[in-house]
Amino acid sequence: MTHFAITSEGSKFDNPKWLTKHERNLKIKQQQLSRKQKGSNNRNKSRKKVAKVHNKITRCREDFQHKLSRRIVNENQVICVESLVVRNMVRNCSLAKAISQVGWGQFCTMLKYKAENEGKIYLEVDRFFASSKTCNNCLYQVSDLTLDVRRWDCPSCGTHHDRDINAARNIRSEEDPKPSLHTNWLVCFTRCG
Ligand SMILES: [Zn+2]
Repeated sequence: MTHFAITSEGSKFDNPKWLTKHERNLKIKQQQLSRKQKGSNNRNKSRKKVAKVHNKITRCREDFQHKLSRRIVNENQVICVESLVVRNMVRNCSLAKAISQVGWGQFCTMLKYKAENEGKIYLEVDRFFASSKTCNNCLYQVSDLTLDVRRWDCPSCGTHHDRDINAARNIRSEEDPKPSLHTNWLVCFTRCG
């Protein structure tokens, strides 16, 4: 995962660096635990250490997601989330794991209730693949764009695209063909690195 979320304006939100640090720590503690003898005192101590790091990660991730969702809801009238991408990608095990690790579902839930609390619009869109493949400039559709292709050039008009930004723009223009001046659109979705 290179980014946690990305918007149609091209803003990219990274997973916070401390999260990676804690996760590395968790891996080490888990390895230590696996080497301890079953039923021993040391194993018990080691298990407590693992649980402690686990809790820390959960709390920090929730805090990060609360702050980011708050900011996104404050800055946008309409929040349009590509969430079904998770379902589409479940076939790819390592990717599905990465997505569940960053708690995408939980993040979308936060966006939804914060948006609805303020009378803003929350939408989920099921158009990831089609919108990835369509050029936002000339609407030419390429026949195939595999997940590993992060950047591509439109064969028709020659525009150079970042896959995710192009998809986000397409989703925005489909949902709101004549965007009003006062409506900010946000599309965010998971991205695999
Ligand atoms: Zn084009």
